[in-house]
Amino acid sequence: MDFRSKKLLKWDSWLRAGRAKMKEETVVDGLVRRRCYEIQEPSGHWVVHLNEWEKSESVNVWGPDGLAVIPPAEPSWEAMRASLSLCTRCGKAASDLKRAGFAGRWCQECRASHLHEVEYPGWTE
Ligand SMILES: [Zn+2]
Repeated sequence: MDFRSKKLLKWDSWLRAGRAKMKEETVVDGLVRRRCYEIQEPSGHWVVHLNEWEKSESVNVWGPDGLAVIPPAEPSWEAMRASLSLCTRCGKAASDLKRAGFAGRWCQECRASHLHEVEYPGWTE
């Protein structure tokens, strides 16, 4: 199985060339191609999902703390580690990022003005 998207092909070959372990490969209704990778790095356990639909694609990355990171435009460990300090809502670099919702990594500013959008009464149910 190969991805058709050049971006996903690049991610797939970068992950396969490194320490990534393919966790899951599935083809399901509405989802043309999907691969899930787990990567054990000295910094901890990373998870990457590559998804390709008929007309769209997505790369989803979770850092060693289990929170989402903004996938870098070009896959590299330097860029992945740099993404750990980016707010997943506004994209700004910040040193005080905290969880928002299930896996958001938000800066103080975004938490102060938008946390109610993802953490409302009963949001975990
Ligand atoms: Zn922010």
